[in-house]
Amino acid sequence: MTDLLAATTASTATDAAPDSASTVVHPAASVDHIATPLTDARSQLAEAIGLLGYTDGLHQMLATPRRELSVAVPLRMDSGESRLYLGYRVQHNFSRGPAKGGLRYAPSVNLDEVRALAMWMTWKCALLDVPYGGAKGGVAIDPREHSMAELERVTRRYTSEILPIIGPERDIPAPDIGTDEQTMAWIMDTYSVNMGYTVPGIVTGKPISLGGSQGRASATSRGVTHIALAALRHVGIEPSRASAAVQGFGKVGADAARFLSEAGVSVTGISDQYGAIFNAAGLDIEALSEHVRATGSVVGFAGAEPIDGAELLALDVDLLVPAAVEGVLHEGNAAAVRATVVVEGANGPTTPAADRIMRERGILVVPDILANAGGVIVSYFEWVQANQAYWWRADEVEARLEERMLSAWQHVLGYAGARGLSLRTAATALAVERVAEAHKLRGLYP
Ligand code: NAD
Repeated sequence: MTDLLAATTASTATDAAPDSASTVVHPAASVDHIATPLTDARSQLAEAIGLLGYTDGLHQMLATPRRELSVAVPLRMDSGESRLYLGYRVQHNFSRGPAKGGLRYAPSVNLDEVRALAMWMTWKCALLDVPYGGAKGGVAIDPREHSMAELERVTRRYTSEILPIIGPERDIPAPDIGTDEQTMAWIMDTYSVNMGYTVPGIVTGKPISLGGSQGRASATSRGVTHIALAALRHVGIEPSRASAAVQGFGKVGADAARFLSEAGVSVTGISDQYGAIFNAAGLDIEALSEHVRATGSVVGFAGAEPIDGAELLALDVDLLVPAAVEGVLHEGNAAAVRATVVVEGANGPTTPAADRIMRERGILVVPDILANAGGVIVSYFEWVQANQAYWWRADEVEARLEERMLSAWQHVLGYAGARGLSLRTAATALAVERVAEAHKLRGLYP
C-alpha cells in the first residue's frame, strides 16, 4: 500500500464526518472501530486487489474518486428566511462509460459516505455489465422537514451547482434515500432549461409520462426478490416454506416485502426508522402499505405486535433483507443474526467484521452490488429508451431484468465456488477485474 492511500485511509478514520452539517451516525461506528461506509468500501476493494494481485498504482487509482464536487446549496424557505445546505456529487470512475448513481437527501449525508456509495456503484455497474461508471450525490438535508416548494427549490439549486459535471453522456443521477421521481423531474427540467432543449436522458427514475421506464420504480425490489428466491433455493429452502424479515419500508423494502410475499414467502417482521413490527403468521403487506400511506410509518399497524428495531435483525427467519441504511449489521450484532440467507437490499448494510462473523456461522450473504442492482439495470434500460425515443412494455422490461439478475447471480456463484470465496469477495473481484481491464485497454493519458 502506498503512503498516499494509507494517508487518505487514516484521515478518513479519524475525521469520519468532516463535511457534514450534522453528525453522521453509522450504526457500526461504536463497535467496529473506525468503521464507516468508506472504510468498509475500501477494505472490500483491498481484499479484491490482493486476490487479483494488482499493483499499488492500480489500487490507488481504483480507491480514489476521479472527480468530486462539493457545493453550498442556499435555500429560501417558505417563511422568507434562508438556510444553507451542503451538497456533493462524486464520480468514482468512468473507465467503462458515463458515471451513474443516485441522489440522497438525508441529514447524515457527508462527503465520505457519498464517496463510498459512488465506489459501490462502479462495482455494481461493472458486475452487471452495464456500460457505466459509478457516481453518487447527496444533500445533507432532512426532506421531511420541508414543503414541496422548498424541496423543489433546493433540488433546482443543487442541480444548477452540479450542472458542469452532469449530462446524459457524463453523469446520470437517479433516486435514492429521500428522493423520488418528482425530484428527478425537477432535475430534468432544470438541466433542460439550461441546455435550451428537453434532455430526458439526464436522469433515470423519472415519472413515466416524462420518459421514465415501465418497471423502474419497483426494479430494485424485483431484483432483490429474484436474487432472494434463487439464494433460498441454493441453500435448499423452498420459498413457499420460507419466512423473512425486511428492514426498511421505503422504495426498496416495501416492494421487496410485497414481491416476496407474492412469491409465497411469509414476511413476519418489518421495520422502518420509527420502529419494528412482527406477526408470526406473516404480515399482510397490502394492509401494511395502506397503514403506512395513512400514518407515515409501520408503527401502530393493527395486524402485528411491536418489537424492537434490533430484535428485527435477530428474528428466527430464513431470509433477512436489510433495505434501509449502511452499517446496520456490525461486529456487535452479527452473532445474533439467525437468518440462513441475508440479501442486501440496501447499499453497505454489512461491515467487514459482520461479514466475517456471518461467514464463519455459515450464513449466506448476497452482497449489495449484486442483490440491489435491479435499479441500475432498469435505469440503464430507461436511458437506452430515452436515447432512442422508443418505449418498451412492462413485460419486456421485467423479462430483461430477470435475465440479467439471474445470469449475474450464476456468474458470481460460479466464480465464488471455483475459488472458495464469499459471494461479496467474488462479486467485488469480478467487478474490479472488469474496471481494471477497461482502464488497461484505454491506457493512461498522456
Ligand atoms: P427510502 O428513503 O425510500 O426508504 C428508506 C427506508 O429505510 C425508510 O422506510 C426508512 O424509514 C427506513 N430506515 C431508515 N433508517 C432506518 C433504520 N435505522 N432502521 C430501520 N429502517 C430505517 O430509500 P430507498 O430508496 O428504499 O433506499 C434504501 C436503501 O437501498 C439505501 O441503502 C439505498 O442506497 C439502497 N438502494 C436504493 C435503490 C433505489 O432504486 N431506490 C437502488 C439500489 C440501492
